[in-house]
Amino acid sequence: MPGPRRLLILGGTGEAAALARAVTGAFGDRLAVVSSLAGRLGEPPPLPGTVRIGGFGGPQGLADWLRAAATDLVIDATHPFAARISAHARAACDAVGLPRLQLRRPAWRPRDGDRWIMAASAAAAAARLPDLGRRAFLTVGTGSVQAFSTVSGVWLLVRLAAPPPAPLPLATHDLLIARGPFTPAGESGLIARHRIDVLVTKGSGGAATAAKLTAAREAGLPVLMIRRPPAEPGDTAATVEETLAWLATKL
Ligand code: NAP
Repeated sequence: MPGPRRLLILGGTGEAAALARAVTGAFGDRLAVVSSLAGRLGEPPPLPGTVRIGGFGGPQGLADWLRAAATDLVIDATHPFAARISAHARAACDAVGLPRLQLRRPAWRPRDGDRWIMAASAAAAAARLPDLGRRAFLTVGTGSVQAFSTVSGVWLLVRLAAPPPAPLPLATHDLLIARGPFTPAGESGLIARHRIDVLVTKGSGGAATAAKLTAAREAGLPVLMIRRPPAEPGDTAATVEETLAWLATKL
């Protein structure tokens, strides 16, 4: 009997956690799963298989790790804005000769009544913000908050999933620590309570944080939306189910 094939899931998202559970259910002992997390969000959720935490040390470090762990397959299920690790995954898998699939949740699409203003980057969004409002709800993640340090004349309600490692470099702001999923009613309440007049978000996609878009639409607020970086070339899937189907072709 051949041993199990070895799968590395690059994670840090709800989809990655769901995939680790689904893979175990679908393939049982045929696949041994390692989930890898950057380790920014503290205690990880319980996951089947093995969990490793922390960076690999760039593409070369990841390639070395893949060889040492005798990895057969890689699923890059990192966040659509986590562009560096996705580029590293592509380079390392190409170097080692491993099949790689990027699991990337679909982007949000505007609906009737939405007032979206697209920005190419966090810096571009920060430059545009004073034209759009005076009290902004900022949901761009710790890594992008820095870009808003130059904004003046706009009060910021900053929501992060975990406490930042250092005080935020922002002038007038309140900090809220909360993790989705969020509800439209909850988001509407937040917008009303803080008299928010503009929402700033990354175009992350996914159901867990989409409620703020519904709330902004209902309140008639402009949404300053930071565009996603492009996916890495190669195989992609939009859902856990599509990813399982891809895996089935590789076993
Ligand atoms: P990033 O800029 O692409 O990655 C920065 C560095 O963090 C990488 O070079 C790598 O270090 C390490 N890293 C990232 N993901 C890793 C993983 N799954 N396992 C091991 N090391 C990892 O990513 P980021 O934007 O800082 O995001 C970090 C993590 O948070 C990602 O795993 C992502 O899925 C998750 N996340 C990100 C966002 C977001 O908006 N960016 C939102 C929710 C969750 P080495 O070069 O040393 O290997």
